[in-house]
Amino acid sequence: MQNESEVSSYVDVLVVGFGPAGAVAAGMLGQKGHTTLVVDRLTGIYDKPRAIAIDHEIMRHFDNMGIADQVLPYVAPFTASQHFGADGQLIRRIDMVAEPYPLGYTPSMVFTQPPVEMALRHHADSFDCVTIELGTELINFTDTGDEVLATLKDASGNVRTVSARYVVGCDGAWSTVRQLSGMKFEDLVFDEPWLVVDVKVHEDAMENLPSTSAQFCNPARPTSFIMGPKNHRRWEIMLLPGEDPREMEKPENVWGLLSPWLTPRDGELWRAAAYRFHALVADEWRRGRVTIAGDAAHQQPPFIGQGMCQGLRDVSNLVWKLDRVLKGQSSPDLLDTYTVERRRHVKTLTGKIKAIGRTSANATPRRRPPAMHAFSPRGRKAGDDYPAGDRAADRGRTDRGGRHTGKGPSFPAAFDHRARSDHTSRQADRRRMARVPRRPHDRIRRQGLDRPAAGRPGCARHRPGERGR
Ligand SMILES: Cc1cc2nc3c(=O)[nH]c(=O)nc-3n(C[C@H](O)[C@H](O)[C@H](O)COP(=O)(O)OP(=O)(O)OC[C@H]3O[C@@H](n4cnc5c(N)ncnc54)[C@H](O)[C@@H]3O)c2cc1C
Repeated sequence: MQNESEVSSYVDVLVVGFGPAGAVAAGMLGQKGHTTLVVDRLTGIYDKPRAIAIDHEIMRHFDNMGIADQVLPYVAPFTASQHFGADGQLIRRIDMVAEPYPLGYTPSMVFTQPPVEMALRHHADSFDCVTIELGTELINFTDTGDEVLATLKDASGNVRTVSARYVVGCDGAWSTVRQLSGMKFEDLVFDEPWLVVDVKVHEDAMENLPSTSAQFCNPARPTSFIMGPKNHRRWEIMLLPGEDPREMEKPENVWGLLSPWLTPRDGELWRAAAYRFHALVADEWRRGRVTIAGDAAHQQPPFIGQGMCQGLRDVSNLVWKLDRVLKGQSSPDLLDTYTVERRRHVKTLTGKIKAIGRTSANATPRRRPPAMHAFSPRGRKAGDDYPAGDRAADRGRTDRGGRHTGKGPSFPAAFDHRARSDHTSRQADRRRMARVPRRPHDRIRRQGLDRPAAGRPGCARHRPGERGR
């Protein structure tokens, strides 16, 4: 065990992981004036979107953090969704909620994750009391009861010990914090392989695509189509027994799957990655001075796009409690309510997500997909262009530095069935969002938060407790 003379620095909170959950946690702690060290083993933001949908609670939260203006340029209203049955018949249409919006924003939105993550990082970086170290990994810790002594290794291999009054593990699905602290996952029983494909579609090919988001509830090949911001379109395609996920990620196979809608000339393949969708929730979210949040604490099939949203709810629930405990205004027992409140919410929502997934998939897929002609503007059969080989053991997708993820199709997080034309609501939403001043993507990138913090001593643009930009 480390002794005090070896400790290189003392902070109120060590946040492990600078993904969306860690960035929001660090920003909120900074806003409340707590000395915070946030570390991430990677030196940059993952440059491709994983999450595509957020909901109004999260936009409202960004508003409260003072960063809605930085986020809104990368956000667009979710379109209406249409569900099609096995024969291509329309079986359900889901329109978006009409104004006045209950929380001030349209309830479901799509967004571009990398620049939004950048805005979250900027916010955290805007507080003097927040120090960001990229390329630094947590490798061990000891909770002494009075403090947590955390062992960190930087990119050069240097190891040091930091003392933190509390640790928040936002270190993703394979969380070191969760594993070291012995918190276990409860399996909520979901395990399916899906291929997630993002395309930047050329303008002249847009007319080949559905004009709403869509769920093809075809048991032969359940598929989601999501209209992202601008020309970003996502397909989430269930893999069939016998299909090797690694093979299916190959561009020729991906274009084969997209052939009902697009050819390789119609757009740029931004990303194609196979995932196993899981439903897991940690049995404890706090042990002593150590807590977990985000994917570290739960994973759910993202049929309604809630994984990241849940992570942000976690940290907003946790930070005000930490704030009171750190200021001596509440006993540490207050932190026990974190697990109780968040775990129950996550479990309930995950149950609903699984039910939505079952309805959408409608049945177990057959070995070989028949035609999806009803959805195919080109009249071709999905799956015709790839072989159905033996099933390879898919150990899960790695992401963000080798982390396993278990994520999948996203659907509107909130909806109602009040009659409203999606055209009308989309126009109104666009008018509302158009009021917000836009900033170019590259301005965030130029500020260098996707690079190591070396030579950037601390964060000195605002004093502790001041509101970020
Ligand atoms: C295909 C797909 C679609 C999705 N769609 C949606 C959606 O529409 N809406 C939605 O809300 N969510 C969605 N999600 C889920 C969402 O992307 C995740 O829930 C979210 O990114 C998790 O954020 P996080 O901050 O908890 O973890 P991560 O983003 O995984 O960040 C964890 C960070 O911790 C770092 N780290 C790990 N170990 C260490 C260590 N020992 N020391 C230091 N750093 C460490 C990692 O480098 C990483 O940067 C989707 C996910 C996928 C894969």
